[in-house]
Amino acid sequence: MLELIDIKKRYGSKEVLHGISIKFENGIYGLIGPNGSGKSTIMNIMSDVLDMSSGKILYNGTDIKELDDRYREKIGFLPQNVGYYPNFTAKKTIEYFGYLRGVNKKELDSNVEQVLRDVNLYENRNDKVKSFSGGMKQRLGIALALLAKPKLLILDEPTNGLDPIGIEELRELIKTFPEQGITVI
Ligand code: ADP
Ligand code: MG
Repeated sequence: MLELIDIKKRYGSKEVLHGISIKFENGIYGLIGPNGSGKSTIMNIMSDVLDMSSGKILYNGTDIKELDDRYREKIGFLPQNVGYYPNFTAKKTIEYFGYLRGVNKKELDSNVEQVLRDVNLYENRNDKVKSFSGGMKQRLGIALALLAKPKLLILDEPTNGLDPIGIEELRELIKTFPEQGITVI
C-alpha cells in the first residue's frame, strides 16, 4: 500500500536519512531505532508534513506528491508531541481539530462520538483535557487521527510516557485496527 523509495533527508548540511526503501502492506509495523536515528523524520515525511530531500513515496502505486490532498485524507497521524488546549473538553478538541482539518460538519457530527468510543474516552467526552492522564491524552490523539477514517495510521511513539497498563491497553487498541482495514505504522 505504501512504498518508500530511496528516501534521503538533510537538515541543512546534515544528512539524517541516507536512502530508505521500505514497503508497507496491510498490518501493523514498528519502526525501531535509538533516539535521533530518524524515526520521527521518516514519519513526518510519510505523513507529508515534511518534505524529503530526495526519493519518492508511492501510495497504491501513485506518487503521494501527485495525490496531494487525496493522499493526506487517507492518513491519520499522531505526531510525537501534540499540544492540546487544556480548557477544551475531549469532544470540543476533536470538533476543533476536525474543523481545522476540513472534515465537513455532517461527517464530524457522526464521527466524533464514534472515535471517542473507539479509544474508550466516551465517558470522559465532557471532561477538560487538563484533567487527563498521559494515557488519556495519547488516546485522544489517536481519536483525532481516526477522525477522517484513515486507511493508514501513523503513530509516533504512541506509548510514550504511559505506565505498563496504559501501554498494554494501547497495544490492545492498536491490534484492532487491521481488522477495520487500517494499516498501522
Ligand atoms: P528519532 O525520532 O528517531 O529520535 P528524529 O527524526 O527526531 O529521530 O531526528 C533524527 C536526527 O535529525 C537527529 O539527529 C535530530 O537532531 C535531527 N533533526 C530532527 N529534526 C531536525 C530539524 N528540524 N532540524 C535539524 N535537525 C533535526
Ligand atoms: Mg522521534
